[in-house]
Amino acid sequence: MIPAPEFDFDYLIVGGGLQGCLLAHALASHRPESAVLLLERAAQLCGNHTWSFHETDVAEQARGWFDPLVAHRWPGYRVSFPGLSRRVRIPYATITSDRLREATLSLAGAAAGPARARRLVVRTGESCEILSPTVVRLGGSAEVSCRAVIDCRGRAASAGLPSGAGYQTFIGHEYETARRWPASEPTVMDVRLDQAGGFEFLYELPMGPDRVLLEYTRFHEEPAYDKARAAELISSRLAEAGAGSAKLIRTEHGCLPMPYVAATRHEGPSLAGGYAGGWYHAATGYSMPLAVRFAELVARARPDRVAAEVAAAAAEDGLRRGFARFLNRLLFCLVRPEDRWKIFRRFYLVLSEDRIARFYAHRFTLTDAARIVIGRPPTGLAPVRFARSFVSLPGPVPT
Ligand SMILES: Cc1cc2nc3c(=O)[nH]c(=O)nc-3n(C[C@H](O)[C@H](O)[C@H](O)COP(=O)(O)OP(=O)(O)OC[C@H]3O[C@@H](n4cnc5c(N)ncnc54)[C@H](O)[C@@H]3O)c2cc1C
Repeated sequence: MIPAPEFDFDYLIVGGGLQGCLLAHALASHRPESAVLLLERAAQLCGNHTWSFHETDVAEQARGWFDPLVAHRWPGYRVSFPGLSRRVRIPYATITSDRLREATLSLAGAAAGPARARRLVVRTGESCEILSPTVVRLGGSAEVSCRAVIDCRGRAASAGLPSGAGYQTFIGHEYETARRWPASEPTVMDVRLDQAGGFEFLYELPMGPDRVLLEYTRFHEEPAYDKARAAELISSRLAEAGAGSAKLIRTEHGCLPMPYVAATRHEGPSLAGGYAGGWYHAATGYSMPLAVRFAELVARARPDRVAAEVAAAAAEDGLRRGFARFLNRLLFCLVRPEDRWKIFRRFYLVLSEDRIARFYAHRFTLTDAARIVIGRPPTGLAPVRFARSFVSLPGPVPT
């Protein structure tokens, strides 16, 4: 597609985080003739993240543009609870901010040639305002027009924190160790019995023989970090692993709302993807499966059909989004904080790998949903209680 003379670009992506960059790659693959401007307010793209996912989250048709972005892959992973240790044979993988940034800048050919001759132009340090579905005001107040603006501003685009939500906070430390790390596969939940007022676990990602990311994750009513507890669990894992002295090479942290009431609809003037548009898994907090799906949808749709196809896909996914919020309600309103871990233990105890894969990919069926929640209380719900609690919102469970 050649840009029509009245437009500066075909697509204008506002926000160069996970969704914005994935979309830039999908457009380069499916619409190589389109002119795309990617605008990011920070000094560089992609922030500071380690985005993990199950390989089964990504559709075959997206593999061509997606696979080169993957930084690490493992054939499976472990979960460990009191009384349950399981290896899940679903390939697991990670995209790092560094890899995604490099790949996006190289797609843009950042250093070479005049900007107007390139198909993808990246501009950082641009805090933009979206004025209409086709016009964006840049930081310096100039306006740029295009056929379609896509809002990928993440949480910055949503109006504050949602009112009905619990929170998932992460504190991650990446280390280089003097001796070989004892595990070659991730442990995505290492749950100890001494749960400190909520649900907490250690997430372990071996990035190489002597490199590991240890991330303390906590599900809590408040969006607050418990740095002391994170330091305690991380250092006890380092000591237990016996990998010798460990040099801290990177840290990351963040907080994700886990909403249990429906988010107010995106009211922005343009089409929105990623967190801004509700394209994330409310129950896991992970964005990858739905961000890839959104990128594919936008890039494959005829430009005049993009909004309609995105709306149809969101509607088709509506029940699943509702169920994911219901699971958060179960977690934060229907069971006591000290029992929360048992829900996850039950999940890994009763679900087959196929069901686990569909759940994480946000492609679960009604029978998958029933299998997740129906069982003996307190970690499962009797069918009648399930039906009742799905339609009425009870208050928090007293501690
Ligand atoms: C510590 C942590 C660990 C996580 N781990 C995982 C994981 O393992 N797997 C997974 O799938 N998800 C994970 N998530 C969730 C995931 O990171 C987010 O849901 C995801 O980044 C959302 O993508 P996004 O593109 O919508 O938003 P973001 O990635 O936040 O990107 C939004 C971008 O828009 C920019 N922006 C905002 N306002 C403007 C403006 N006015 N003009 C221009 N640019 C603007 C921001 O600077 C930012 O770069 C994790 C989150 C955290 C905090």
